[in-house]
Amino acid sequence: MGQVVVISTGGTIASRWQGSGFAADARGGDVLATAAVPEGVTVRVVDLMSVNSARITTRDQLALLRTVHEVLADPAVDGIVVTHGTDTLEESAFLLDLHHGDPRPVVLTGAQRPLEAPDGDGPRNLRDALLAASSPALRGHGVLVAFDGQIHAARGTIKVQTLAADAFADPSGSPVADVKDGHVLVRRRPERPEPLPLPAADAPLPRVDIVTHHCDADPLLFNAAVQAGAQGIVLVATGAGNATPEVVAAVEAAVARGVLVALTTRVPAGPVAEIYTQGGAVDLAAAGAVLTGTLRVGQARIATLAAVLAVPDADDTAGRTRALRHAVAAPPAS
Ligand code: ASP
Repeated sequence: MGQVVVISTGGTIASRWQGSGFAADARGGDVLATAAVPEGVTVRVVDLMSVNSARITTRDQLALLRTVHEVLADPAVDGIVVTHGTDTLEESAFLLDLHHGDPRPVVLTGAQRPLEAPDGDGPRNLRDALLAASSPALRGHGVLVAFDGQIHAARGTIKVQTLAADAFADPSGSPVADVKDGHVLVRRRPERPEPLPLPAADAPLPRVDIVTHHCDADPLLFNAAVQAGAQGIVLVATGAGNATPEVVAAVEAAVARGVLVALTTRVPAGPVAEIYTQGGAVDLAAAGAVLTGTLRVGQARIATLAAVLAVPDADDTAGRTRALRHAVAAPPAS
């Protein structure tokens, strides 16, 4: 057991009634006070922000990334817990994971029920996260998500329930560990690519947009994203990654202008795959879109954002494409 730093960012786990609805306003110390700290663990709190996570910006996420790395510069720290709103937890967790080369666990958690709810899930989730962050068995497992008695790898894990306590899962995979009776029971070690370099502190923040395909869709919104200056666009296609010949033409034109295009799907589980032509993933890949394996839309966007930040030279399209392929590399099954 050892020393864990809790970085508090807000979310439902830090939310109180505001008169017309709930919003995050509690500090990290108040959130920590709800949880039983596991025996032998000492905790230090860093208050980074207190916001609901739909409001989190790239600037906020990069501040979190830098804070994690600053905290890990202290060799006395055994692990980190990040308390975070569940709405975009999967995005911040994946950004941290893409840049995490340290064996010490970084564990994100939150709650579906607010801070002062009598039957809230926050205290248990936070205790499980503290256990996971201080667990030697989880060293080398990357960034993790502790929720409802399970520990998930950041990569691939998304919010799958709007209200229920079992809010997180990888629809194409399985949990890394379970927490039972105060013990972490490891099931598997996730395969992870080498970490990306940390973005420079003064790196300009790129626009990365998301466009969803649907029946009767035309390329208007995709092209609007290009016109708006997007340096990356995630195309959320149908099925295994399919759209129309008109969308393929728009992707080809965007890629020719140096825009990074990532391809994911509206379907909840399974990979995108090059099967269909006449507007399908075969043609989208030939037009320069990068297939994102089993990553869902929020994480496909984070991979695209991270690739742009890793290769700041906007003219280095090949470098950005390589960085995106690296970030989305589907790990071999373990
Ligand atoms: N709206 C909240 C947020 O993401 C939801 C939560 O934390 O569960 O901040």
